[in-house]
Order: sequence, then C-alpha cells, then structure tokens
Amino acid sequence: ITTSSQGALPVPELARRKKARALLASTSEVYGDPEVHPQPESYRGSVNPIGPRACYDEGKRCSEAFFFDYHRQYAVDVCVARIFNTYGPVLNQGDGRVVSNFVVQALRGEPITVYGEGTQTRSFCYVSDLVEGLIRLMNARDFTGPVNLGNPSEFTMLELAEVVVELTGSRSEIVHRPLPEDDPTQRQPDIRLAKERLGWAPQVSLREGLKPTIEYFREVLASGR
Ligand code: UDP
Repeated sequence: ITTSSQGALPVPELARRKKARALLASTSEVYGDPEVHPQPESYRGSVNPIGPRACYDEGKRCSEAFFFDYHRQYAVDVCVARIFNTYGPVLNQGDGRVVSNFVVQALRGEPITVYGEGTQTRSFCYVSDLVEGLIRLMNARDFTGPVNLGNPSEFTMLELAEVVVELTGSRSEIVHRPLPEDDPTQRQPDIRLAKERLGWAPQVSLREGLKPTIEYFREVLASGR
C-alpha cells in the first residue's frame, strides 16, 4: 500500500514543478474480480478492500486518484495506463507469477502448479507490445486515459500450462494447488480506447511471445543464475 500510494505521490508533484508529463503504470487489478467482461475503462471494478490483494488493488486505485487530483487541481499533464498481465524475457524467475512459474517448472521437469481448477482466465501481453503502447500514450498529448493496455486474447490457466509444456517439450505433469483467496476468475481488456486514441493493438501472439521467454529462462537456468 505504501509503495503504490505514498511511493507514487512524489511523481505528479515533481511533474507539477518541472512542467513535465507523468505516466502512471496502473493495473487491471483496479477492476478486482470483474462482473463486466471484457473490462472497459468505464467499469469501476469489484475490489475486496480488506482482502489479501487489497494492498495492491487499493494502492493503485489511490495512485490513480492522486494523479487525477493533480490534473484537476494543478493542471498537471498526466496519463494513466491500466496494464494487464504482461510477460517476456527478464521476468524474475522467483516472483511467483504464472508465466515464469510454469516456464521454469517445465524446463526443470518439475510439476506445473495450476491453482484451483485452472479454469480462471488471463490475457497475456508480450512486453514489446506493452512498451510500444506506453510510448504511444506518453506521446499522446491531451490524452489522460485511463487506458487499458493488454492483449485481448484470453486463456485459461490450464490452456497456458498445456502450451508451455508443448513449447518446452517438457515431460512435466500438471498438478493442482489451492486457489489463492480473491483470485479473479476472468480478465480480458477491452482495448477499443487504445485502438482509437493511440492507434495501438498488440501484435505478438502468446505462442510467439512464449518462445523468446522460454529461451531466456533456458539460459538463466543453464547459467545457474
Ligand atoms: N497461477 C497458477 N499457478 C501458479 C501461479 C499462478 O495457476 O504457479 C494462477 C493464479 O492463481 C492466477 C493466474 O495464474 O489465476 C495469474 O496469476 P499471476 O500471479 O501471474 O497474475 P494475477 O493473478 O495478478 O493476474
């Protein structure tokens, strides 16, 4: 909570002093466990304010409020990107996210840990597509957003596990582990606004993006890093 709220606050303040444009890297987590599918920016979300994910969800919602207060009160030039699940090389192998977990487990021949039934969905955006969206947003003068940046191709976690096993040529088996509390059941960005205002849409499919990601982790594991 402190990082996402107090940590973000100096940024619009600095932008005010320097007359700079400030970009907030917000998140699809502001939508919580959404009742609306796919999620447009106008959807206000379904967040459990006291659950285990609240520190992140509410922290980011708070930082969005800071940015828009600075915009209203001091006319600071701000923009807000709501980033959906993103992956690619240089992910931290130990951070517990699903793509890094599955790829590392598959390469090591360890069981692939699907939480719950694996029917929950996520939409995965390759890092180069996301970076392009952020650059376009920063260059889009007079556009504050918030704007969704993510890939609308949606997969269940079981589907992801199967693709990772196939692309790594692994013999890992899929095992099920308990579903974490408040784990969103579905998530898919509505990217009409990004298409219209930024002329942006992701270009890299999940299979295409997983290949360099797998190669990256292969090298990391081989080098013992
Ligand atoms: N997940 C999983 N196995 C893992 C890690 C995550 O099945 O080893 C699931 C997790 O329960 C969630 C999805 O994958 O439904 C995405 O999790 P992640 O932490 O990567 O992102 P987020 O939940 O923040 O979208």
